[in-house]
Amino acid sequence: MSVRPTVDFLLYDWLSVDSLNQRERFADHSRETFDAVLDTCERIAREKYAPFNRLVDTQEPHFDGEKVILPQATHDAQKAYADSGMLSAAQDYEIGGMQLPYSVEAAANAFFAMASVSIGSGMLTTGNANLLMAHGTDMQKRVFALNEFNGRFSGTMCLSEPQAGSSLSDVATRAVPDGADSEADPLGPRYRLKGNKMWISAGEHELTENIIHLVLAKIPGPDGKPVPGVKGISLFIVPKKLVDTDGQLTGERNDVALAGLNHKCGWRGTTNTLLNFGEGKYPVRGDAGAIGYLVGRPGEGLKCMFHMMNEARIGVGMAATMLGMAGYHASLDYAKNRPQGRPMGPAGKDPAQPQVRIIEHADVKRMLLAQKSYAEGALALELYCARLVDEQHTGAPEAADDARLLLEVLTPIAKSWPSEWCLEANSLAIQVHGGYGYTRDFPVEQYWRDNRLNMIHEGTHGIQGMDLLGRKVLMENGKGLQLLADRINATIQRAIQVPELAAHANVLGKALQDVGAATKAAWATGNPTDALANAVPYLQAFGHTVLAWIWLDVALAAQAQPDSHARTGRLAAARFFFHYELPKIGAWLQVVRDRDLTCASLPEDAF
Ligand SMILES: Cc1cc2nc3c(=O)[nH]c(=O)nc-3n(C[C@H](O)[C@H](O)[C@H](O)COP(=O)(O)OP(=O)(O)OC[C@H]3O[C@@H](n4cnc5c(N)ncnc54)[C@H](O)[C@@H]3O)c2cc1C
Repeated sequence: MSVRPTVDFLLYDWLSVDSLNQRERFADHSRETFDAVLDTCERIAREKYAPFNRLVDTQEPHFDGEKVILPQATHDAQKAYADSGMLSAAQDYEIGGMQLPYSVEAAANAFFAMASVSIGSGMLTTGNANLLMAHGTDMQKRVFALNEFNGRFSGTMCLSEPQAGSSLSDVATRAVPDGADSEADPLGPRYRLKGNKMWISAGEHELTENIIHLVLAKIPGPDGKPVPGVKGISLFIVPKKLVDTDGQLTGERNDVALAGLNHKCGWRGTTNTLLNFGEGKYPVRGDAGAIGYLVGRPGEGLKCMFHMMNEARIGVGMAATMLGMAGYHASLDYAKNRPQGRPMGPAGKDPAQPQVRIIEHADVKRMLLAQKSYAEGALALELYCARLVDEQHTGAPEAADDARLLLEVLTPIAKSWPSEWCLEANSLAIQVHGGYGYTRDFPVEQYWRDNRLNMIHEGTHGIQGMDLLGRKVLMENGKGLQLLADRINATIQRAIQVPELAAHANVLGKALQDVGAATKAAWATGNPTDALANAVPYLQAFGHTVLAWIWLDVALAAQAQPDSHARTGRLAAARFFFHYELPKIGAWLQVVRDRDLTCASLPEDAF
């Protein structure tokens, strides 16, 4: 079973991505060139990733006292990925890119996430380099970003510290100008950094010639103290090995030391590190302190970093989605082959009859259809968001601005909805396997462990909820929320004309009104403590409403197609979502609307 027909249907029949070649930037492209990229990525994922997914789980990265050792399969897979040109797929031709639309790039990367999410497809490297293309100097782009796009260097994002995770305003890493000539360094104003960064993915390995860390740190103010809050945070390029202005290694090791590897529940193919910056383990030019080059202006570090984080959040959503998809496919295959039990006839069960396969039981079908509605719905959502990124970058000015604002509102959903519901899909995949699902003889327990990360990193579920209700639905006087409501209403107007979908359209209209009313009620006192006490139930209800809209829109495209099993399946998944899932929003919205403080007001000692 392949996910490709679903990807093709969503990209071409639903989103009409092939029509992007009418835009100047994509004029050389066609469905044939898009298909060629998808074919190549599907093949590399099948040959170099999927066979090694269990291996990278059992052979965790380890430190031999000098180097971090990863399985040879990881080296081979990442080389194949870099050789395919995918690291720079979206970049201009002049710098070796393919000028590929982001929607096609995201779809192509989905194959790697499904085959082996933790071997990774260079999401951090591309995100790091894209940030430098947006905020770096010409020299920084040439020396660092271009060498990331060509696979020589890899990238990290170093935000978190042991004492500062969700609350980045508390980062304690310090950066001070490195001597009298520090401003004149051609690679950017040069600083010395000291501090500890926790949880850094791909922070140490031998997969590439160099590792380019993007590090958040505070420059002390005139009083010698760090500026409090996020305004004091700046962004620095800190290479593991120092380079010259041609991007060649100078032979000097920067003062960045591995303090330890974290041993994770899942996602074990990627190293996760505690890094010490500037502790003097590798003194540079006689002094302790890691050399870092300022990116952008002092104090604008978090703003620049958000460039990377928004992309990363869509990437996280896609990873969660494809793990959900992998579990769905595995459990569907299992359910079609596992004989167990007999059907219940009017006279009860007949033990003389042969056993049926478990896919014939209604409850197993329920679990499979739930997974299908979560994973394929999430894939549609992620590709829709990716298409918005293309609109933002290449659309006419008004459409581009609408896309930007819609992305602001949808990004918390794109990150968190698949993280929660495709994890639930993985749990159902284990359930379909029964006891076997709880063993390492089948892949589904690993999918669940790998997926469990996604509600935690790139902003936890709680932080995403507060971002949505506390910022995104309010920003620009609620214009983003209104734009989303307009899009949802447009789908409702089309679906209401189709007898098979009209009832869903009406239910969605009511859900949209309820979300709007709950948003107002949450903020009725104007007190963030009241409004945000139930930010996660709000996120859940908002996400389910968005997914119902996505499914209705997808169902409209499916409905227009000739009869087939795929068409029947898509319409059934949409129906499932409307009958079994959307009604859940009632309970979630009620506590939001009532500004229910049951949790928020409970004294600590009563727990
Ligand atoms: C495998 C892995 C890979 C990672 N990779 C990277 C990486 O490459 N680079 C990087 O910089 N970081 C990375 N992280 C760090 C990750 O982003 C943080 O773990 C995350 O931001 C949460 O921070 P924390 O772990 O300190 O938890 P905390 O911030 O302590 O949160 C603990 C709990 O408290 C809740 N909470 C915290 N503050 C609030 C609040 N104000 N209101 C309501 N609830 C709140 C959270 O939602 C959470 O449930 C990674 C983490 C892991 C586990």
